[in-house]
Amino acid sequence: MSELIKIRNYVNGKLVDPVMGKYLENINPASGEVYALIPDSDGKDVDAAVKYAKEAFHSWSKTSIEYRHDILSKISDLIRDNLKLLAKAESKDNGKPLWLAKEVDIPRAAANFKFFANAITLFASQAHETDQTAINYTIRRPLGVVSCISPWNLPLYLFTWKIAPALAAGNTVVAKPSELTPMTAFLLSTICMEAGLPAGVLNIVHGYGHSAGQAMVSHDDVKAVSFTGGTETGQKIATLAAPKFKKLSLELGGKNPNIIFADCDYDDMLATTIQSSFSNQGQICLCGSRIFVERPIYEKFKKDFVEAVRKLKVGHPDQPDTRIGALVSASHLDKVKSYLELAKEEGGKILFGGKEVIVEGFENGYYLEPAIIEGLAFDCRTNQEEIFGPVVSIMPFDTEKEVLEYANSVRYGLSCSIWTQNLKRATRISSEIEAGIVWVNTWMLRDLRTPFGGMKDSGIGREGGLDALNFFTEAKNVCIKY
Ligand code: NDP
Repeated sequence: MSELIKIRNYVNGKLVDPVMGKYLENINPASGEVYALIPDSDGKDVDAAVKYAKEAFHSWSKTSIEYRHDILSKISDLIRDNLKLLAKAESKDNGKPLWLAKEVDIPRAAANFKFFANAITLFASQAHETDQTAINYTIRRPLGVVSCISPWNLPLYLFTWKIAPALAAGNTVVAKPSELTPMTAFLLSTICMEAGLPAGVLNIVHGYGHSAGQAMVSHDDVKAVSFTGGTETGQKIATLAAPKFKKLSLELGGKNPNIIFADCDYDDMLATTIQSSFSNQGQICLCGSRIFVERPIYEKFKKDFVEAVRKLKVGHPDQPDTRIGALVSASHLDKVKSYLELAKEEGGKILFGGKEVIVEGFENGYYLEPAIIEGLAFDCRTNQEEIFGPVVSIMPFDTEKEVLEYANSVRYGLSCSIWTQNLKRATRISSEIEAGIVWVNTWMLRDLRTPFGGMKDSGIGREGGLDALNFFTEAKNVCIKY
């Protein structure tokens, strides 16, 4: 076996071992092999990182916008320069197809830094004149040390989506990627060193959520937590943060509806629905896992969808024709399979897929055929709970009222896609649907200036554009009487 790569924490501008010297194994999901070691950090590591971040805040928060713009742009450029290396690392850590990491994950990580490097130069505060007797102006100041905690599905993409605005706004950061996918965050440490980011401004502490993550959330000197992950973890974090009045941004789970009307542009809808169902092995919080199809086209859709999904190649992430790579971990594979069993118990019929796939040469990898289920009630557990894997449920509907009831029946409210040529209907449903993000005749078309986030149990707060900069700053109003 080749020597294991040793990931290290990034604290006070240096790569360091965890205080207790303990490490966890990092597994390549495509082969099931251990290939790296991850610091099993705890409260002591977090205390040190927060201490240095607090010290660094004094100077970082006073740097000019131009300086922060330049340094964040440099990080963005270095991410682009290292596209191949980062994409390879992301794919190996997560199991996602290499081409996907190259085309989506890493370019987006670079775009996050570039976007917020620019956005901060346009971040303006308000002024209000009061009855010609006084002027009010608002100052927005960074919060101090903030914590950014991200999940495993889009590792560098989501990690940088939080870190970039936090740094741009003048905060210092103590961050933790998922312990399942730490490699690109580790590589980001070295990129930040190369870019000349001052010591202590960004600190990356690796390890489990229940130890390192929880220590960040509970730390008295951490003023805000930006978290993306599961709804149950979000609840725990909210419980820990609330008594200390920390600012919280929670981007949580989803069970998104994909609503397809008979008058849609059928070919566009079909091609996009394959992506929205199974991109990244269905492990995107925005995937449309409940597909509602208007009855006149239901049978045609079912036949065409099954045919198309049958052709998606499940394979090793390095192969360019692989469309479905490996699921992130053995336990996640088990969780997804348990939902397929549940679906059968609840009366569902698996129209296609759902079987484990043995990939030659990588027999211990976590591969699963994409699965399409029909015949389930809209309110059964399979249709209500987040599976977060390559599994969709298809259901016919007859009326707009009925499909809205189905779509809104879940505890989540993250995103929705609506397929119709009828503009009035699209605007009606967009206004009635309980989702923070609505796509009409598309999916995952992103503009980083827009507010991003979920309703109901999909989270609180919005990220992106000015929302992110507002989150990472605190407003102070000054009123001057003339
Ligand atoms: P988890 O909630 O398990 O973990 C997310 C992050 O939180 C990880 O870094 C994890 O650490 C950490 N964590 C776990 N427990 C705690 C704790 N008690 N205190 C502090 N941090 C903790 O989510 P997953 O990683 O499994 O990601 C999948 C989930 O993320 C899905 O529900 C998905 O819908 C959601 N998601 C939401 C998005 C959105 O924008 N709304 C986008 C992408 C995903 P570790 O894993 O290392 O233990």
